[in-house]
Amino acid sequence: MTLTSHTPLAGVMGWPISHSLSPRVHSYWLKENGLDGAYVPLPVSPDNLEHALRALPKLGFRGVNLTVPHKERALSFLDYVSDVAARIGAVNTVFVSQDGALSGTNTDAFGFLENLRRNAPQWNEARGPVVVLGAGGAARAVVAALLDLDVVEIRLLNRTKEKADALAESLGGPINIIDWSEREDALDGSTLLLNTTTLGMVGQPRLELSLAALTKMAVVYDLVYAPLETELLSTARSLGLSTVDGLGMLFYQAAPGFEGWFGVQPVVTDGLRDSVLSTP
Ligand code: NAP
Repeated sequence: MTLTSHTPLAGVMGWPISHSLSPRVHSYWLKENGLDGAYVPLPVSPDNLEHALRALPKLGFRGVNLTVPHKERALSFLDYVSDVAARIGAVNTVFVSQDGALSGTNTDAFGFLENLRRNAPQWNEARGPVVVLGAGGAARAVVAALLDLDVVEIRLLNRTKEKADALAESLGGPINIIDWSEREDALDGSTLLLNTTTLGMVGQPRLELSLAALTKMAVVYDLVYAPLETELLSTARSLGLSTVDGLGMLFYQAAPGFEGWFGVQPVVTDGLRDSVLSTP
């Protein structure tokens, strides 16, 4: 591909950014669709976030994704923030309009749900309580999505209980806060278990949790995708439970940005997955 001064540009801002899989995802879609475009990793320190965002229109960018640690702080540097991003309290996708204005939205809730629907179509919100482990940024998007589905009950557990309390207070709805130490009992009767903590991720401690209290029809969904097959997912599979890994959420949350910047609705395929996993 030859880059020209007219090539549409997008990217991902984070600090650090070298770990991000987003450039692989968007580059795959650009190539698959034969589009002129480029998606680049942008290492932007927290101190430079506002200037970097404001420079996007001047540099000809159509927009960016935002990742750790920028998702929350970016809210105050944008001209428009969607209702869903304001409710979640974080922006992960920014669009530059023709007049240079910056609009931010959050596609994590969409990506979370789409991945669940595609990979565990048998699950539905009326089936019973959902257990959410964690109360960080990812948990806010997940809980907002579950509330929009009108789930019967969300059992929310976090090591730091005050953060779970704050999340429940800001989002409202049928959320029961349960102590982190009671996480195994909390699984009793639940139909969906979600890990939104960093536990089980490469370099992080294990998630210590027996799944014995889950029923056979329960779905276990881990947002962690490094490693792809977490200990939580392999344990669930060995018990005959359905599982959903975190890579699909990463793909589905990326799709609305790609469509807005490059004008084509991308498709999540096995080819994408294989390519992202095989790229060194
Ligand atoms: P975050 O805001 O930093 O939240 C981290 C969460 O993990 C908090 O609830 C924290 O509890 C908990 N935690 C950390 N260490 C713990 C420990 N030793 N024991 C118990 N709990 C612990 O991070 P995030 O942005 O929400 O991301 C969380 C995970 O989701 C990451 O693995 C990330 O890669 C993944 N994620 C995946 C996708 C996807 O597309 N698949 C999207 C977003 C995030 P405290 O509040 O007590 O610190």
